[in-house]
Amino acid sequence: MRLRRQAGALAAPLAAALLLGACTGLPQPADPPAPASVAPAASAQPTPAIPAAPERASGWRTGLQPVRAAQHLVATAHPLASEVGLATLRAGGSAADAALAVQTVLGLVEPQSSGLGGGAFIVHVDAAGRVQTWDGRETAPAAALPDDLRWISTDDRRAPLPDVRASGRSIGVPGALRALEALHLQHGRLPWARAFDPAIGLAERGFPVPQRMADAIATHRAQLLRDPEAAALFLHADGSPRTAGSLLKNPAYAATLRTLAADGAGAFYRGPIADDIVAEVQRTQAGPAAPGPLTPGRMTVADLAGYRAVERAPVCSAYRQWEVCGMGPPSSGGIAVGQVLGLLAAAPPASPGPDAVHRLVEALRLAFADRNRYVADTDFVPLPGQGAATLLDPAYLHRRAALIQPDRSLGVAPAGRFDAVARGTHAGVEHGTSHVSIVDRWGNAVAMTTTVESSLGSWRVVRGFVLNNQLTDFSAQPADADGPVANRLAGGKRPRSSMAPTLVFDRASDGTRGALRAVTGSPGGAAIIAFVAQTLLALQEGRLDAQAANEMPRVGAFNTPATVLERDHPDGATLDALEAALRARGHRVVRMPMASGVATILRVPGGWQGGVDPRREGQALGD
Ligand code: GLU
Repeated sequence: MRLRRQAGALAAPLAAALLLGACTGLPQPADPPAPASVAPAASAQPTPAIPAAPERASGWRTGLQPVRAAQHLVATAHPLASEVGLATLRAGGSAADAALAVQTVLGLVEPQSSGLGGGAFIVHVDAAGRVQTWDGRETAPAAALPDDLRWISTDDRRAPLPDVRASGRSIGVPGALRALEALHLQHGRLPWARAFDPAIGLAERGFPVPQRMADAIATHRAQLLRDPEAAALFLHADGSPRTAGSLLKNPAYAATLRTLAADGAGAFYRGPIADDIVAEVQRTQAGPAAPGPLTPGRMTVADLAGYRAVERAPVCSAYRQWEVCGMGPPSSGGIAVGQVLGLLAAAPPASPGPDAVHRLVEALRLAFADRNRYVADTDFVPLPGQGAATLLDPAYLHRRAALIQPDRSLGVAPAGRFDAVARGTHAGVEHGTSHVSIVDRWGNAVAMTTTVESSLGSWRVVRGFVLNNQLTDFSAQPADADGPVANRLAGGKRPRSSMAPTLVFDRASDGTRGALRAVTGSPGGAAIIAFVAQTLLALQEGRLDAQAANEMPRVGAFNTPATVLERDHPDGATLDALEAALRARGHRVVRMPMASGVATILRVPGGWQGGVDPRREGQALGD
């Protein structure tokens, strides 16, 4: 899995994607993660600091080919999850059944990225073309206070201990399971319990520790030592990290899954499992292997019992011959991706090469300016005007696109002006996320991005699953010099996300929704917006296949002074030339690893084509 493509051996389409990408006014690309979720926004920073380092790549896998399928296809971040997804589809299951089964396996073999203790956003289309989205975002406990992420109390203004990400304050009420339950209820074809069987078997028999999981364990050994259950699962008895290839069993997880299979999702949210989650969140002392105080969170059993996945209106916008549908707030993903595409469509055509990339990162700056200022949980803070439609209005985007200079970077772009009711400035850093794309033989499709926030979440394990630290996606500062921040913490509120599970449809000549064209999404924190936009641009004109689109060199911007270019991509020469060209336009270029994890399915004549990201361990499988 840790193969490296030889420098200079980049397939021609990759360079073409980067250098030709915007020749018709469309661009591409991506961007990296934002700063520590709890750090203040970067909009006023004088240096080209980039939020934070993205999740590591696993090395570059060479020779990945697009996978062809006639009837159904699943693309996930781990081969075992994809195998279980495919087996579910073969058994006559729907995309919803496969998504549920895949998630139970990912929580076992990719616990650093997602699981029962985290949250998820799901975008689904059925055979009739009806698009639905479910918000299974983690939620702040009812008793949360606005300053909970920055200090212990008004009397003790030290940061939560041992740090906010590892403290109980970061842990939100998990939502992934409720979202999958809602999806299964409407679109499942197989019994609920059946979806749990493969993961139960794997957890009991054991599986070889994947390289990425081993890397995450080694990186976070010190944090894992604080929780005896996490240490027992991920470390040896002497405290050394479990290594890649060694057999790992997780009987506690198998037992949890058996309970959920038999008693339903409700058994997670009330009763012994819920009690144990609350006890862990409220724990005040780390374990004996790494003793020290822990600032407890305020989650109660009532918070768990009251959790609801919310079905929300999809955010859909037209882009050239497509309709692009994604997730609305509390994710900023759907709006920001739609804005980037709309800004590029409105901007004058760029010449191939650096001009196209320049336009893309400038569009990202403009989109992030609005995202950072206006987008948060709309159950608490409304969007300006008529909501997403206002931010995606072609006339508005046309005015915004006029700010893009052909030969000079904006550096930091202003947000659009509205009679806004609230604002925010925060961008978060995130490393624990996974994307799943599935199409079934019945005409349904799922795009699900699922997360525990940091790699291995809050480094705490309850009954075999990892607890998230998603509440660090809130702004730690409830207000700044300009007033209240939209994405401030509040009881019952959901932190703003960047996750962008996306479905793309052809648009009929009368503008109505046509056939499903593509399913995509990625982990990567705030960089998700760039990764997804870049993928859509690459696919837009049929230039790249579903695999090649995922292999493009990554570029991005977060509306900080920095423009980010991928480091360690096999096509370093192309990126070096691009860096020089962008610097000539005033970009303050930062090179960094950009570990996207895009999983893409594309409709092609006779069926489907699937591709995964060479930077991670995923696999596409289909028939
Ligand atoms: N917590 C992030 C979000 O919801 C995703 C984390 C990641 O991509 O690693 O935007």
